[in-house]
Amino acid sequence: MTVRSIAVIGSVAFDTLETPSGRADGELGGSAVHFAVAASFFAPVSLVGPIGDDFPAATREYLVARGIDCSGLEHRPGRTFRWHGRYHEDMNKRDTVALDLGVFAGFAPRIADATRRAPYVFLGNIDPALQRGVLDQFAAPALVGLDTMNHWIDEARGPLEALLERVDVLVINDEEARLLAREDNVVRAARRILALGARRVLVKRGEYGAILFSPSSVFAVPAFPLEQVFDPTGAGDTFAGGMMGHLAATGDADDAALRRAIVYGTVLASFVVEDFGGRRMRTLTRAEIDHRYSQFVALTSF
Ligand code: AMP
Repeated sequence: MTVRSIAVIGSVAFDTLETPSGRADGELGGSAVHFAVAASFFAPVSLVGPIGDDFPAATREYLVARGIDCSGLEHRPGRTFRWHGRYHEDMNKRDTVALDLGVFAGFAPRIADATRRAPYVFLGNIDPALQRGVLDQFAAPALVGLDTMNHWIDEARGPLEALLERVDVLVINDEEARLLAREDNVVRAARRILALGARRVLVKRGEYGAILFSPSSVFAVPAFPLEQVFDPTGAGDTFAGGMMGHLAATGDADDAALRRAIVYGTVLASFVVEDFGGRRMRTLTRAEIDHRYSQFVALTSF
């Protein structure tokens, strides 16, 4: 079994989070950070993204201590990306209260030579033109994951669709899948996205779980049932990080491996929602992950 490395590009952020349970300011977040922290439980990860003058040395040290390669964190003059989100009582819904691009504006990453050889690449939710520019720099990735959002489907449909044929797993929520495919039914939407070129489509459905569509099969998992969801921020990226981390750890890419990896992604996501931002990941252990994985197996076997 060869553990392969993963490169992730996306936002590195400080978040203000408001949920029905309370409020937190200045929480470490961003799509690439949530992904990298989750993946680091399983495999070596290189984190690529811009940081500003306000990024504390202690935060970088935390990431390095997790085994995350932070040499791709590019220090630029200005403030780190900031996002302020507010969840509704129904925590499947949230509003962006404020977003400050800071050092993300004008960021054009140059991937270091060592990182370019990473066989697993995850393109976090950023401008599809930037995602393509990054992907072009990788030598021969074995598996490419991609996340996107409504904004890019509306504003950059052409570049996004052009990327799909280079994507092994498109990770997308159900609303985005419908928007991208211009189809109300999620199954038809996924089929349409496969026809656009993505090799597999993983549709996230929040508290209802996820469905993986490939041309020849469909696999559905529930979310792990929790009594309390404290803060859903980062669940999607943590899910993707757990999934790709586990794939990289095994080196397998067949359907069975992908199914197991999706369950690990589900398990990781079920932990991150237990506290604000990524706080829960600081105390999480591999033993807790494996215990919940076996609970999940029991939950879904009949
Ligand atoms: P998730 O809950 O998995 O969608 O991820 C939430 C994370 O994405 C937060 O930590 C935010 O900092 C980050 N985020 C929110 N909006 C954007 C955006 N427009 N571009 C990049 N990152 C974002």
